[in-house]
Order: sequence, then C-alpha cells, then structure tokens
Amino acid sequence: MTAANDADAVNAVTTDRTVELRHFIAGEWVEGSGPELVRGNPARPSEIVARGRAAEDTQVDRAFDAARAAARSWARTPAHERGAVLGRAATHLESRVAELARELSREEGKPLAEATGEVTRAAQVLRFQASDADREAGELFHSPRAGERILVTRRPLGVVGVITPFNFPIAIPAWKIAPALAHGNTVVWKPAHTVSLLAMRLADALEAAGLPAGVLNLVLGSGSTGERLASHPQLDGMSFTGSTEVGRHLAMQLGGAGVRFQAELGGKNTAIVLADADLQLAVDQVVSGAFRGSGQRCTATSRIVVEEAIADEFLGELTSRVASLAVGDPLDASTFVGPLVEQRAQSHLRAAIDAARAHGLREVFGRSHDDDDLPGEGHYVSPTLFELSGQERSDVWDAELFGPVIGIRRAADSTEAFAMANDTRYGLTGALFTRDLSRALAALDELEVGVLHVNSETGGADPHVPFGGVKQSGFGPKEQGRAAREFFTDTTTVYLRG
Ligand code: NAP
Ligand code: MG
Repeated sequence: MTAANDADAVNAVTTDRTVELRHFIAGEWVEGSGPELVRGNPARPSEIVARGRAAEDTQVDRAFDAARAAARSWARTPAHERGAVLGRAATHLESRVAELARELSREEGKPLAEATGEVTRAAQVLRFQASDADREAGELFHSPRAGERILVTRRPLGVVGVITPFNFPIAIPAWKIAPALAHGNTVVWKPAHTVSLLAMRLADALEAAGLPAGVLNLVLGSGSTGERLASHPQLDGMSFTGSTEVGRHLAMQLGGAGVRFQAELGGKNTAIVLADADLQLAVDQVVSGAFRGSGQRCTATSRIVVEEAIADEFLGELTSRVASLAVGDPLDASTFVGPLVEQRAQSHLRAAIDAARAHGLREVFGRSHDDDDLPGEGHYVSPTLFELSGQERSDVWDAELFGPVIGIRRAADSTEAFAMANDTRYGLTGALFTRDLSRALAALDELEVGVLHVNSETGGADPHVPFGGVKQSGFGPKEQGRAAREFFTDTTTVYLRG
C-alpha cells in the first residue's frame, strides 16, 4: 500500500469521531479538572469534534514545575540533538497531513485545501528551525586591547509561555514553539480553546519525535487559563498572537513584572490597486487575500483602495468573481468560503453588515443573511463589499472585523492611495498592484506595514524571513527566520583573553 493509501485508511477509521481532550504535562497525557470544554464543528455545530475539561490552576502550576525541572538539561542538550527532535516531528506531521487537515477543517472551519497547506507549513517551520544548529551561533569582534577577542554568545531564556489564536491552529503554534525549543527553552503552551484538538496533534508529533518529558507542556482552557500563564512567577518570557486588546493587556501586565514579551496582534490590511496594474492578477489576488480563511487571517485583505481611473472596471470584475465564490462546508472541494469559527463571530459580522447598511454605505456586493444560497446550519457569513466615499467612516473601514467583509475607497492618485492605506491604527501587511517600479519603490518608504506584497495578496509568510506588524499590530521583536532568535535567546558579551 502507498503512503497516500495508508493515510486514507487511517482517515476512514480515526476521523469524524469525537476526540477526548487531554493536556500534556510533564510528558503525560492527563484529563483536565477545570470547566467543561466542548467543540462543535463550525459547519455543523451539533457535530461534536472534541470534548474534555479545561486545566485547573494547579495543573497550570504543574506544567510550569515540569518546564522548570526540564529547563537545565534541555538547554545543555547539543543544538543538533534538539534540532533532530524537531526534524522528526516534521516527518511525523508530514506522514499524517491528510488526517490532520481533515481534523483541522472540522475543528476550525477552513476549507480542506487550506488546512492541508497549513499542516504542511507547520512541518516546514519545524524543519527550518531544526536546521538552526547549522547556522552561525553568535558574533566575534576585535578588541581595542592586545591579546583579547570579544564574543557575543547566546543562551536560552528558560521557561517560555506561548498563547496562540484560533485561526492557524497548528502553523502559528509551530512558528513559536519550534524556535523556542530549538534555542533551548522549555515551553508551557495554551492554545485558543476552540482549537484544542490540533494543539494536541502538534504536541503528539513532538512527543513521538522523542522530546524529553517536561520540555513542552500543553494546557487547554479559555482566556482565564491564559491569565494564569501570564501571571505565573516561573515565566521567563511570553510569546503571544491574538487580538490587539488582549495583547495590550498582557504587555502592560508582563512589562510591569519584567517578563520579556512578544506579540503579533490585529490587522486591517489594504490592497492598493493602481491604474497601471494587471487587473486580472489584482482581482485574483484580492479575492484570495480577502476570502481565504473566511477573512479570519491576521493578514487578510479587509480594505481595498483603487485608483479612480480604473475603479469601475476593477470593481465590476471583482464583483462578478465574488458573486461566484461558493460558500459552504469546508470538507466540500468546491467550497471557497467556509464558516466563521463561532456563532459569536457570525453575529458580530452580521451586526457590522447591518450597521453599514443602516449608515447608507454603498453595498457593492452582498446577500441577505437568510439567502437561500447560504447553508442553513453553520456560522456562515456571505462575502460583502461596501464602498465609502468622502469623509464617510464605518467599522467596515476602521475595525478589524475578522470576516469576509471589505471596505473600499477610490483614490485620485498613488499619493492619496498610500495615505488612505495608512489611515488606520494597524500596520501588519499591505499589497500593492502596479507595473510602475517607481511607484512600487515609493511604497517601500510610504506604507506603514511590517510586511508588504508587491503584486501579490496581503497573506503569506515564509519561515526563513521576519514576520510581524508595526503600529498597533505588533509589540516586541518579530517572529520567524533569524528574528525568532532575538526573542528566544539572551546574549552574553564575553571579553576573552588567554
Ligand atoms: P484572542 O481572542 O485575542 O485570543 C488569543 C489567545 O489569547 C487565545 O488563546 C485566547 O484564549 C487567549 N486569551 C484571551 N483572553 C486572554 C487573557 N485575558 N489573558 C491571556 N490570554 C487570553 O484572538 P483570537 O480570536 O484567537 O484570534 C484572532 C485575533 O488574532 C485577530 O485579532 C487576529 O488579527 C490576531 N492574529 C494576529 C496574527 C499576527 O501574526 N499578527 C496572527 C493570527 C491572528 P481563548 O481563545 O480560549 O479565549
Ligand atoms: Mg477570540
């Protein structure tokens, strides 16, 4: 039997059942003793994907004790051996992509093709960090004094807390946990309560790869479990991805406690389409940027600025594409837009659409909430496009709605377009569509973003380069690539004489 057939066979027996949730503490899979955790499939909420109990405070404490106990020996383990564990975990994930992607779709709601891409990406991230031991490990300087050299060496922080969001249940945890472990830290991790199952799958891959007990500890629970992590006296550093509101709260708390903190936060990302753009490319990329993950990506395109000269043509093309996107079950191969993660998110998005309609914003495309084309059950929201003119303001333009709702403005020229794109407290990503190199170069200086895509969509992040936002989209050092090392290690400056 081929590997693919193997995976199909595993699928047939192990998926589409309710999984018992367990915490991974000190190398053991244990039941929680806190409040009940139940996760329904966002496409069919009555179908229970996973259930169990959250961690109690004493279990979080045990996780920290285990991480502390394991810290010294893991830090002394040769970097090549630590990397080898990550490499084996990557292989483990790769051997289970089909099965895990299906679980991810059922738990989080993104279409199966995107879920497959995400699991594959998590393996890539583990592999990239696995090879860190083969890169340079510090710096060497001349000394102004004879017979001396100055070295800058790196040491792990110790015990690191990791708190992750729902929208990339395995890729985002991998891009925090892999560098934390590669650089010799031990970890206590709390994922979003909505995606506990995929968190178990990542911990399971690392356990199967031979990670020593206590080096990674997984505690499941809601925001209050996160609070317990963030206020723990054993914490040496904390890496967080989630909303700007929670991130700012943690920044104040951890800053006060003197704990190193890094946060990747919200976004309100603009695609700028200039008059000389390849319009077909721009339409394709904007559709992908705006509606993959149902718009629930921190890097999602949620605003479009289009140059007046081609605005009617571009919006006409965009509207016909958006009208043809299939909204439905993420396990159905024809689906482009799946459900939102929770009923609360659906109500929030529908309220924002209703408010924009009540304000009289021009609705370029939208459907009634009870349109017959929308599946009945499930937390679906249809793609919706609003245009704002003049001084009009709306949450559609200003707030991170985290769903398939887009605000559009027309700009007279590229200068006005860049100013409109910067008209936000966020600064995560941006996309610029143009064939004019001078205007693309101007954008490098003008656009206030941490990630800029020229002639591609706002989403996307490669494991070997820095990722993160400016303004209120981020706090502290960036993630991934070499940037991860800045956060997960401390330097020692060594004045060395014979
Ligand atoms: P969220 O509501 O801020 O939650 C993020 C994590 O924090 C979850 O694990 C959450 O637990 C936990 N949490 C909630 N309240 C907490 C508290 N008081 N103390 C400690 N932890 C707490 O964000 P989300 O809804 O999961 O994700 C969407 C947000 O993440 C969006 O704003 C998006 O832009 C942002 N995001 C940013 C990036 C980036 O790289 N910049 C990437 C992805 C997502 P529960 O979920 O269990 O309540
Ligand atoms: Mg949330």
